[in-house]
Amino acid sequence: MTELTRRSLLAGTAAAAAATTLGAMPSFAAAPAVGKQAPAFYRFKIGSYELTAIHDGIWYRDIDAKFVGNAPWAAVQKAMADAYMEPSKLQIPFTALLVNTGSKLILIDTATGGQLAATAGSFTANLAAAGVDPKSIDTILISHFHPDHINGIKDKENKIVFPNAEINVPEPEWAFWMDDAKMNAAPDGMKPAFRNARRIFSDLKDVKRYEPGKELAPGITSIAAYGHTPGHTAFAIASGNQSMLLLSDTTNNPWLFVRNPDWHAAFDMDGPMAAENRKKLLERAAVDRMLVQGYHFPFPASGHIVKTSATTYDLAPVLWQPSL
Ligand SMILES: [Zn+2]
Repeated sequence: MTELTRRSLLAGTAAAAAATTLGAMPSFAAAPAVGKQAPAFYRFKIGSYELTAIHDGIWYRDIDAKFVGNAPWAAVQKAMADAYMEPSKLQIPFTALLVNTGSKLILIDTATGGQLAATAGSFTANLAAAGVDPKSIDTILISHFHPDHINGIKDKENKIVFPNAEINVPEPEWAFWMDDAKMNAAPDGMKPAFRNARRIFSDLKDVKRYEPGKELAPGITSIAAYGHTPGHTAFAIASGNQSMLLLSDTTNNPWLFVRNPDWHAAFDMDGPMAAENRKKLLERAAVDRMLVQGYHFPFPASGHIVKTSATTYDLAPVLWQPSL
């Protein structure tokens, strides 16, 4: 006689149940892994304006003790570990913002053009997935001349990607990066950025230069936020009774630089000035409870700034909203 235990009884019952259920169901073969993400774009509204955040990818940048000039490496590593990043590999996502005012399509910064990191360069594909033809973009606003913001103006073959767009750049950025004397005086490590700015801009016919502080399009005002670069610019976007702050590169990865706004990142050309403007804009965003967008924030790169002490902040990222 077979000894009936509780385990064999349960197994037998489960097997019988499974046989019954499976017998009644069509069978499915194992599905192959897909191995890629869905297109990454995210829409939201400010007043009557429809905004679309377009993701370009992430740069996994190796960092070392020199990366934050005014903080101990152990503190930087702890901030990385607290955010579940590898201690010496900073995640730098890229997200550009498209604003549809109802009469104009305005793109703010243009991503990497696939020319910076192997894990970035999906902006054009994501723009297409969002249903936007690069030819339909009327205006481009540039925050500053670092390659991850301007390279998307041209493809790898130096062909312009947005043939009908008027390109607007901050005057102090142009004055700095297009000045040959400044390029010649710059340390060797900075010279490629000067040459890259020339590659992008020097043969474009009509690049408009704007003074930060000016309204550049209805409801879109530039804000001087110097320090990251000599003419680095943030933007306020307002429509109806709603507004938001586009921080550009006022803070890089928020888990480091919103939480530690005093830290001077290696790519902040004037660390103290960058930190001063960072704290000013984070404070304004926290006090006014403004929605913010950060070019290097985790996709979809927007959220609110929470004040966590007299001198520190945190990012409360937006949750995916299924409707606008
Ligand atoms: Zn950047």
